[in-house]
Amino acid sequence: MPDLHDGSTECDPFPETALPTDELAAVLADRLAEVPEWRSAKDPVRLGFAMSEPHPLALHAAGMFAARNPNNVGVHTRFGDGVRGTRRLEREAVLALGGLMRADSADGYLTSGANEGTLAGLRVGRNALRAAGCRRVLVIASALTHHSVAKAAEILDLGFKALPAKPSWVLEPAALEEAFDALEADGEDTGVIVVSTAGYYNTGLTDPVDRISALLGRRTDAPSRLRFFHHVDAAHGGMILPFTAPDIPFDFRNRFVHSMVLDPHKSGLMPYSCGVFLCRKGLLGHGAISAPMSGFVDETVTGSRSGATAAALWSLVFGLAAEGYRETFRGCLDLRGRLGDVILAADPDAVLLPSPGNTVLVVGFSTEGGHLPGALREHYRLVGNALPWTDAQGRVTDRLFHHFYVMPHMTVSHVDGFGADLAAALAAPVGPEGRPAPVTEAERATTEPPVPAELKHLRGTSACLRHLVVHPPQRRDPDDYPHAYSFHTFRNRAELGEQLRVETWPPSTDTEAQGGGELLVYAPDFDAPFANELFGVLSPRKFSLEVLDRNQQKLSLVGAAHLSVFEDADERPHTPVLLANFHGDGGFRSAEYKWGDRWHADELQVFEDSLVVKVGKDARSIRRTGDDYSFSIDTSLELRVTLTDGDAPPRLERVAQHTDPALPRRRHLLRGQYQRFPNRFFDVIVSLTVGRGFTGTVGTDDLLAEALQGGPLLARSADLGLARVLPRFAEGRLVTGLEEVRGEGSYEMSVDLGLGARLRRELEGIDVTEPENLEPRDVVAWAERLHPVARRLQLAAVDRDGVRHPHWPTGASGGKASAVRGSTA
Ligand SMILES: *Cc1c(COP(=O)(O)O)cnc(C)c1O
Repeated sequence: MPDLHDGSTECDPFPETALPTDELAAVLADRLAEVPEWRSAKDPVRLGFAMSEPHPLALHAAGMFAARNPNNVGVHTRFGDGVRGTRRLEREAVLALGGLMRADSADGYLTSGANEGTLAGLRVGRNALRAAGCRRVLVIASALTHHSVAKAAEILDLGFKALPAKPSWVLEPAALEEAFDALEADGEDTGVIVVSTAGYYNTGLTDPVDRISALLGRRTDAPSRLRFFHHVDAAHGGMILPFTAPDIPFDFRNRFVHSMVLDPHKSGLMPYSCGVFLCRKGLLGHGAISAPMSGFVDETVTGSRSGATAAALWSLVFGLAAEGYRETFRGCLDLRGRLGDVILAADPDAVLLPSPGNTVLVVGFSTEGGHLPGALREHYRLVGNALPWTDAQGRVTDRLFHHFYVMPHMTVSHVDGFGADLAAALAAPVGPEGRPAPVTEAERATTEPPVPAELKHLRGTSACLRHLVVHPPQRRDPDDYPHAYSFHTFRNRAELGEQLRVETWPPSTDTEAQGGGELLVYAPDFDAPFANELFGVLSPRKFSLEVLDRNQQKLSLVGAAHLSVFEDADERPHTPVLLANFHGDGGFRSAEYKWGDRWHADELQVFEDSLVVKVGKDARSIRRTGDDYSFSIDTSLELRVTLTDGDAPPRLERVAQHTDPALPRRRHLLRGQYQRFPNRFFDVIVSLTVGRGFTGTVGTDDLLAEALQGGPLLARSADLGLARVLPRFAEGRLVTGLEEVRGEGSYEMSVDLGLGARLRRELEGIDVTEPENLEPRDVVAWAERLHPVARRLQLAAVDRDGVRHPHWPTGASGGKASAVRGSTA
């Protein structure tokens, strides 16, 4: 699990020898046990998701055909196609589904799901509209549309316009008409792909497809610069509504519905992956590409497809048929009625909105903000969405609703069990993880406790990646919860209301560290200063020293204690921030020099046995809601130099190119991807080995030319932008030159090969392996003695004439004299 150790995910070597059969079986059995069952009492009940147990008929047919591995590549609904085997089964299933969707004549094929089916529909629509002379094509849908629509528009390079959701929660013809008028006024020949939905994921509702179709017909018949294509996303409703509410007109009975997607793996009792794309006969030609090497014309998005899936779908269409589906979904609707009853019994003031014909129930609970306790949401996999709502005063506001899917595998005992759990949860007093009040950004800004004024000068963010914390509720219990941790910074802590307590340290000595200024100590808890995350010593504007508690020491990536010298670094960018990191036993671990701003820096890390050059290290942290926050690091180039004893010349071990640094990278993750820490990314990793005593000269070309095949080693430097990286060895130093590719800028990071060993000898810490036994004054004394040495190290590395050279400064007093071995007296 490399990602849990250092946050980077690298590939594993492909196994050379086969696992013995019993081991293989054991691993698979273990993984199978991790997949929830549908009906077991101990597993979560997925009330918030549209998924269900596949039907045995489908599983049987899929298994029966799988061994022959038939390939259903292409489309099989045209004359002369699909006459044999699984292609025939696909043709018959698709055409029967076309009939179910009230099409007289249709083409279609099995897709991997609704994402692909919508992509196929929009592709056909775009190409047809272009063929009709539209130079501009765009997609219009409701803001509540499934994200697969925006994704397809993005893939096809089409503009996407989301019409704001109204309290009706459906696409209103009047809003469409307004949007069309605005486009018409532009005076350009425009193709518009309207996407309607039959069964919105979070409401279960269906758009008025008949009225939308009529509108498109009217506009097409009138003189207009607009041309239309209408795709219906029936992923959720398509396999349900025809059996429960056949009068809801969402399908091809409307003249202006051109294509449609169904999702049998969502609501049609099929195993994954199975969607169905349908369109009016003839339109598929707008997506045709000839495949000369296979001798056919390809009109699909995918290439090879599973024939076994077609057999499975066929066996449901013909083996269950309408009577089977009708019985299944009527049962779901009955059970949905019961679910509504148990919810009202627990929360009589809840607002219940069953969607017509669909198996979805949308509920606005009467709890504060409509929230439900976290444990209940977790066990029943419930998802809340804020939706526009007209309140009792007639105002439109956002209100939190939860949606419930009553799917075919569900039983009365699932529903009654939920009712009992809901009643118990709502009756219980509101605990710490009870119903959290919704906090808006604006409220947060006014209610957040400010960072203590004394700590203002402490790095508010993660210039020092101080330590990891475990997410609540097990935050202080990493052994039980090793996978949910993140970096924790002071500003985060203050934002969470976990303000650090700060006290002024009585000015005992007039040390250089204090410099006449005040010294502060801080901790979350002064009653147990070393047993509760951390204890810090701060000289505002100059430095901080932190000692982590036992748990944080276990999780920390940078040692058990660390001194951070930030003096001058904010004002003068060529002064590095310096971090000195220590192991629990007091031994020196590493010194990190960072030039740049607190987020984006070029760095040198000095260990006793290695040197690490980081070019363009970019750190981001994000707080989502409440106490959920995390961190990612994106480093353009990391040069790792392992130091061995002796004077062996440098040897290149590995160059790993993960991405092209010349391409702009998306800045870190999207907000929604931050929840899992750690995340570390590298464009390029270069590993070298060299003897610490090596004093010869080896240039960049000799080191790297072969591995790079003569090309440059590029990285995005924090200071220079895209730069050539030129590592070399000279006179007992590792020198890394950086030269801006499109400009004049350049500088060097240079470091003595022996610096780490020297720091190890000279910079001593105090033993913090048993932090509970420490006294604040021990740590303050350590900080006072450590700071002057570290400050001289920092100043020695200030950029002079474009050279940044960490070294042991002449005149730095011996570390032994200035450090103390820990006393726990
Ligand atoms: C589930 C769903 C999709 C996406 O379906 P996949 O099978 O995951 O591709 C698209 N639209 C709606 C309305 C859905 O409910």
